[in-house]
Parts: sequence; C-alpha cells; structure tokens
Amino acid sequence: MTGIAETLRGIVGAGGVLDGTEDCTGYQSDLTGTPGGAVACVVRPRTVAEVSAVLAACSMAVDVAVIPRGGCSGLAGGATPAIGRSNVVLSTERMRAVRSIDPLGNVMVVEAGCTLHDAQAAAAAAGRLLGLDHGGLSSTIGGNLATNAGGNNVLRYGMAREQVLGLEVVLADGRIVSQLSPLRKNNAGYDLKQIFLGSEGTLGVVTAAALRLRPAPRIRVTACVSLPSIDAVLTLFSRTQAAFGESVTAFEAMSRASLELHFAHAGARRQPFSAAAPWAVLIEADSASRHFDLNGAMEALVAEAMEAGLVADGTIAASESQRRALWALREGIPNAMIETPGALKSDTPCRSMRLPHSMPRRAAPLPRSCRDAYRRRSAISATAISISTCCRRRA
Ligand SMILES: Cc1cc2nc3c(=O)[nH]c(=O)nc-3n(C[C@H](O)[C@H](O)[C@H](O)COP(=O)(O)OP(=O)(O)OC[C@H]3O[C@@H](n4cnc5c(N)ncnc54)[C@H](O)[C@@H]3O)c2cc1C
Repeated sequence: MTGIAETLRGIVGAGGVLDGTEDCTGYQSDLTGTPGGAVACVVRPRTVAEVSAVLAACSMAVDVAVIPRGGCSGLAGGATPAIGRSNVVLSTERMRAVRSIDPLGNVMVVEAGCTLHDAQAAAAAAGRLLGLDHGGLSSTIGGNLATNAGGNNVLRYGMAREQVLGLEVVLADGRIVSQLSPLRKNNAGYDLKQIFLGSEGTLGVVTAAALRLRPAPRIRVTACVSLPSIDAVLTLFSRTQAAFGESVTAFEAMSRASLELHFAHAGARRQPFSAAAPWAVLIEADSASRHFDLNGAMEALVAEAMEAGLVADGTIAASESQRRALWALREGIPNAMIETPGALKSDTPCRSMRLPHSMPRRAAPLPRSCRDAYRRRSAISATAISISTCCRRRA
C-alpha cells in the first residue's frame, strides 16, 4: 500500500496525503465511533481534476476500496472504512469553497467539502436561505447530498435532493460528470444527478453542487405546546397546515421519553411546561414578507387548540433567545440518543396517518441481528411530521 500512497502524493502533493497511523486514526469511523477497517492512507484533493486523477489511480490499483468522506457526522457507517480491505479515505476537507452566489437567480455553487453551516452563512449574507437544516452543522454539502439528508425543514423545503439544481461528480474510473446548471427551468434530457443523490458515495464522488436558494425569512414565529396523545398531535398538524399553509417550516413532535432522555443527558430539567405531558410539539412558521401576521395566526391556533382540548399548555417565543431555547429541546434529543449508551437511534419515515401504529414499544426486544448491528446507537423519527421518540435496548 505504500505504492498507492506514493502514487497519490504524486497527484495531490505531499501535504495532501496522510498515511501515518496517528494521522489516520481520526478517519477510522463515523460519528458512532464504531471502528472500521484499517486506513492505508487519507487523500485530500483540492480540485475536481485532482479527485479525477485520484480515482483513476485507485481504480487501477489492486483491491483498493475508496471511502468518500465529508464531515463524518453520519451514523450509518457509510464513511467507515471497510473491514478486510485496503482503504483509501478520500476526504473533501480541502474543497470548501463557495464558488458563486447569485441572489437574483437564487442559486449558489459550492464545493462538496463546504460545511452546511458555512453554506447557510454564505446564503444568509446574500439575503438568501438554503432550505436545508439539521443538527449536524459540521456535515458537508457533499455528505448531505450523498445521504439525501432531511432535517428540520423537510416539511416546507423537502429533502436535500430537492435543493439541488446541478451536480458535479467524479465516477470511479476518474471520468467527470459536470451538470452544474444553475437553472430551475431545465428540461435538457436526462436528469442524471438524481441517481447520485442519496447514493452514499457508491456511484461517484460529489465535488460540487448548484443549490437552490430562497428569499431569507423576514418574520418568524415559534411555539411549543404540550399534548395528551399522538392523535392530538395529528389533529394539531392538520390545523397547523390549515392556519399557515406553506409557511410552516417545522412541526417537530417530541415524546416524553425522548425529552426525559435529553434532560438526563444534559443534566438539566428545563421543562417547557408546568406539567409533564406525553407529547410536546415545536411549531415554526416563517415568511419572506413582513406583511403576514404570523404571530396572530399562531396565537389563534394555540388558543383554539386549547379550547378544543387538543393542547394542554403552550408557549410562543417572544425573542430569538427564547426561540433558541425551544429548539435546544429538539436538538438535544438526537445528541442524547447518540451519546447515551444503550439508546437506540434510527430514522424511520412513515405515512402521517400510520404514526399512531408506528410508535416504538419501549419494552419490545430487538431481534439479535439488530442488537449486534446497533450495539450502542441507532434514530427514530418520522417525516412529514418529524417525531422524536426513543426506546432503550434491553441489557
Ligand atoms: C446531530 C445530528 C442530527 C442529524 N439530523 C438529521 C436529520 O434530521 N435528518 C437527516 O436526514 N439526517 C440527519 N443527520 C445525518 C446527517 O444528514 C448526515 O450525518 C450528514 O448528511 C452526513 O454529512 P457528512 O458530510 O458528515 O458525511 P459523512 O458522514 O462524512 O459521510 C456520509 C456518507 O456520505 C458519503 N459522502 C460524503 N461525502 C461525499 C461526497 N463528496 N461524495 C460522495 N459521497 C460522499 C460517505 O461515503 C458516507 O457514505 C444528523 C446528523 C447529526 C450528527
């Protein structure tokens, strides 16, 4: 394997390849910490031409597995080196540029290693919004597209796939497929990019993407309410859509069990309500127009839901810091799931109407195969409504 490291140094320069044991240690697993196979070397190209030459060289080498890697925030093992193979980890950490932003055309072109956080900040600086947001802000655009990430705004903006106007990808043999069209109105032949989105790096390495932007929101309202049952959550969801139409960006239901896990993990009990209820829902709506009365709509929604017995208690954020505190409840849950030994984390989409039948039963034993696969962690959530709940593995 010294051979492949030397070959790759010839392409990306000495500083672009890591092959010492210590240098490679941080590249041996994803965020779960589950160790993968040995890393022969880590290659860190800077340009699409270098990615192309690296993949061409690796495809000519014998039995080399190439593992594309972004921010390493994945929890499904996709960025974990294969066991029993000679692994070359291809990290996009030196491909972070925002190539261009066009506020009039509502599009930005970013390199794969640009973090979601940096892409959001660049869009915001141009008065625009990138409709992709999830708790793993150190993740990269390349990783988000490779996993077709969802997140907090799926309800309004859709999955990562729906933010993509164009893609630049390098195939395993080094060929570059460049479809970076920034146009929304584009009916030119096959839409090849779709097969790479969500393919977890199995079909090629994403090197850049043209992402759709929207006007940045100018007004926003956020509320958190407590509810007695999952049926009440569904009825409230229906009422929320009727009240806000497409302005709803998030409807995040949190079970008592998942909040308790978060409180235990954070070592604090910042209860949003005076009395503990089986469910809490975080609702957020926003608009690029300052002429809509979103606050009034939220006040009416919550008051009418209380009158109907759907909602027991509720609070509407009066400031950005109160809003952040409400979101901290939601965002603390996946972190607690990831970091608490024995908590099971998976991400399971199901139809809204099936939700009452799809809630995990706390005491249900897992099949042995699952216990082995998810030794420590795995996520449970459901979209279009996003539900956070949790169960614990039996000892
Ligand atoms: C706190 C937290 C909350 C999260 N919440 C959500 C959520 O609500 N909804 C959701 O859908 N996801 C969620 N995720 C998962 C998140 O979407 C993924 O972790 C993220 O998209 C992966 O990006 P990454 O850059 O870290 O990729 P990595 O973890 O490095 O890699 C993930 C996969 O993508 C491949 N890959 C990476 N870069 C490229 C590339 N340039 N070209 C081709 N393949 C590549 C890797 O080989 C691997 O298979 C969450 C993660 C965290 C940590």
